[in-house]
Amino acid sequence: MSLIVMKFGGTSMAGIERIRNVAARVKREVEAGNRVAVVVSAMAGETDRLVALCREASPLAAPAEYDVVVSSGEQVTTGLLAIALNAAGIRARSFQGWQLPVTTSDAHGVARIQEIGTAALRATLDGGAVAVIPGFQGVTADGRVTTLGRGGSDTSAVAVAAALKADRCDIYTDVEGVYTTDPRIVPRARKLARITYEEMLELASVGAKVLQTRSVELAMKEKVRLAVLSSFSDEPGTLVVDEDEIVEQELIAGVAYDRNEAKVTIVAVPDRPGAVAAIFGALAGANINVDMIVQNIAHDSATTDVTFTVPRTELARAKAILEGARGEVGFERLIADENVVKVSVVGVGMKSHAGVAVTMFRALADRGINIQAITTSEIKISVLIAEEYLELAVRVLHTAYGLDAAA
Ligand code: ADP
Ligand code: ASP
Ligand code: MG
Repeated sequence: MSLIVMKFGGTSMAGIERIRNVAARVKREVEAGNRVAVVVSAMAGETDRLVALCREASPLAAPAEYDVVVSSGEQVTTGLLAIALNAAGIRARSFQGWQLPVTTSDAHGVARIQEIGTAALRATLDGGAVAVIPGFQGVTADGRVTTLGRGGSDTSAVAVAAALKADRCDIYTDVEGVYTTDPRIVPRARKLARITYEEMLELASVGAKVLQTRSVELAMKEKVRLAVLSSFSDEPGTLVVDEDEIVEQELIAGVAYDRNEAKVTIVAVPDRPGAVAAIFGALAGANINVDMIVQNIAHDSATTDVTFTVPRTELARAKAILEGARGEVGFERLIADENVVKVSVVGVGMKSHAGVAVTMFRALADRGINIQAITTSEIKISVLIAEEYLELAVRVLHTAYGLDAAA
């Protein structure tokens, strides 16, 4: 008899018929003799709707109240799934985040899980019932509701699995597993039977939203056996594993993209020590993450341009902060461009193979796609390109690295 955590995403929970389908899947695991904790997302579109309501009420909504509102979508689906399970003859009860509790930091909107109380969960599972838990929500030490950041239900599921020392954490979503790229953009993307934690972590962090980055980080650290599979089919999914569990390693595991990027160019920054520190210091002080950075050395003049990216959702704030720092830094002007995306290729094979970057640059050049910035890590190369080329670039790279499924 195994203890398993099953997580169902928004599309899987979108409506009563689909919730009944989820209940049937949970029932199958229970009838196979497993103890089951289920983590659920809000219905698809519901969290977006709640976020929009907060913005409408006030663009400056207090983060703690924002969390009260946006966490509510998951409360609804826990209750509905418990009802559907009971109706299917399975004993089940819901727990809200504050009831377990799922204790988090007080960083509202992006809280981190610190601890999960397991006593009530264990009592429920040991008594032969299913526990239904909301993803995405937690509570601070002083009792205020928090949320974990968009896509956070994956992290809730892994954290519950780690706390319960579950045998498996199965993430059910609307595709059949982790693919070599987003199957909604490239129909010839291939489902991976296995992927390493390291590659999955890198893919998630450069935009593959099939798993939230933090969920992979946590699974890797806590050694949670993680699988991604579909709520709508019985095909085998993808297992996230250690590197030594993969027999034949491909050079590139996958291609990912991120639309939440905006490019900022600061024109004519004085070429002196401290200028760049002043620019990025101002952004860091406002908690704005800078991603790609390009700076050239000044030749004849005493100034140079500095280009970097910030999350598109933070661009307005970044511009205001930089304009405020113009006097101190002494630059001439600022140009912002929201019409950019980041496209990345990821693979542990890169560590030991030359020429991976050249393949990328050539494939893009052959299609006339201009590269505006580049960053690399040991197992990733990212480029910034104009947004209109996103789908073409992803498709071309997928082909260039030999990832296309046979026609
Ligand atoms: P859920 O609501 O179940 O959490 P998400 O929408 O958060 O689902 O994540 C699943 C989506 O991730 C898929 O529908 C797919 O479009 C997208 N995706 C992006 N990259 C990949 C990839 N490499 N493999 C599979 N899905 C991907
Ligand atoms: N409902 C939340 C969101 O849409 C959390 C999740 O689904 O993972 O971001
Ligand atoms: Mg998700």
